Amino acid sequence: MLSNIRIVLVQTFHPGNIGAAARAMKTMGLGELVLVNPRAFPDDEATRLAAGATDVLANARVAGSLNEAVDDCVQVIGASARLRSLPLPHFDEPDAMAQSALGNAQSAPVALVFGRERSGLTNEEIRCCTHQVSIPANPEYGILNLSQAVQILAYELHRGWRTRPESDFAYQSPAEATPPTREQFDHFQRHLHDVMQQSGFLTQPHARTEEQLQALFARAEPSRKELSLLRGLLSALEPRGGD
Ligand code: SAH
Repeated sequence: MLSNIRIVLVQTFHPGNIGAAARAMKTMGLGELVLVNPRAFPDDEATRLAAGATDVLANARVAGSLNEAVDDCVQVIGASARLRSLPLPHFDEPDAMAQSALGNAQSAPVALVFGRERSGLTNEEIRCCTHQVSIPANPEYGILNLSQAVQILAYELHRGWRTRPESDFAYQSPAEATPPTREQFDHFQRHLHDVMQQSGFLTQPHARTEEQLQALFARAEPSRKELSLLRGLLSALEPRGGD
């Protein structure tokens, strides 16, 4: 279960934070680290702060974009101190996030995504996520150091896993209830975009309309089966060649 959970750090500036995040992960039984365009990696400072977790660093994968890092995941949870305009489903409590992530991670990869030290995640990157999570903290200053945010969420995952009621997790959800991967969801969104354009629904570049519809579908959390039903509907609405 924990082996299906991936920690993704986006454009980390300080290599020391990468090392400290690797240590935070290993202490909580997590081993899969993906770095999206890190400023400096590998790096001595990262190795030094990883202490006994240099194996996590050695196995870390570097990706060119967040999309590439989470394509195969069925749930992508963006950690953010602040709420953005995109109304994604939001976990206000890290333990609720852990329950949901552990449930999905029984059968497929799940990612937890952390942003840059200075500027967090961009709206574009938040759009790659299916959910958001915040660590409740001092309302006057609630922004944690990156590796400490990793530590807290990793702790919650480990705690959820340690204390899991066997009966709950023994139940495997039926295949048709499995969430789609991000890649499958992206294909749906591109299909929707094409149909909206071809049908004349989008007459000008209505970026906001499209964003709102994307947020609606993200909140609906469709299963694979439901997504393929929607794809079928879109195909039926598409103009047929030759007609
Ligand atoms: N100035 C940035 C903060 C970046 S802190 C901003 O305002 O977004 C670096 C990363 O640590 C964040 O992108 C987030 O992933 C994580 N983080 C820090 N504090 C957090 C909190 N209270 N809840 C959830 N994640 C947090």
